[in-house]
Amino acid sequence: MSKLQSDLDRLAAESCASRAGNRCLLLPGNCIYFAATGIGRCGYFERSVLPADPSLQSRYAAQFQLESDQNIGTCASCGTSYEKRSNRQKYCGHCGESERRKRKAASERQRRAKQV
Ligand SMILES: [Zn+2]
Repeated sequence: MSKLQSDLDRLAAESCASRAGNRCLLLPGNCIYFAATGIGRCGYFERSVLPADPSLQSRYAAQFQLESDQNIGTCASCGTSYEKRSNRQKYCGHCGESERRKRKAASERQRRAKQV
C-alpha cells in the first residue's frame, strides 16, 4: 500500500460525508479510497473533501496527472470522475451503459405500443 493511498484512506475516513465505515453511501461497495480496494477516483471526494488538504491534493493530482489531462468528466448520474471519450459523453462507463439500456427499453416500449 502506498503512502498516498493510506493518506487518502485516512482523509476519506475522517472527512468524507458520504463514507460510513469503509463503505460509500453514494456508490455501492466500499469507499474508492478504502486502502484495501486499491486507488481510484471519486468526483465528490475531489471536489468536496480533498481541497481541505492542499499538500495531499497536489500529490493526488500528480498521481493522476490531473493538470495535463483535460479529458476528465464528472458523471451526470453518480458524480464519479471518468475519462471522456467524446465531448458528448455525460456519464461514466457504468452509468452510460445503464442509460443506454434504459433508452433502448423505452424505444422498445414505444415501438410495441405503436404496433398494437
Ligand atoms: Zn456514473
